[in-house]
Amino acid sequence: MSDEIIVICGPESFFLDDVEENCVDCGSKVFHRPHTPKGTYICLRCLLKRVSDNPRFQGSFRVTKETVKEVLEELKMRKTKH
Ligand SMILES: [Zn+2]
Repeated sequence: MSDEIIVICGPESFFLDDVEENCVDCGSKVFHRPHTPKGTYICLRCLLKRVSDNPRFQGSFRVTKETVKEVLEELKMRKTKH
């Protein structure tokens, strides 16, 4: 499916309200933000494997504005803590 929404998930939880899922390819535990669109949850390792196995791999990658804002705020907070 070319209009598949692929949600790239991290292996570790970063925020307290992260949602736990299982990677569609390897089944390992991954985390995503609660406001990401519904789609295929995949870990970064499996995503890179899919892309290297099939250079024409197509998908719709999304990062919500909320996620960008949250990450930037978190980084700002961590910088000022020092
Ligand atoms: Zn995986």
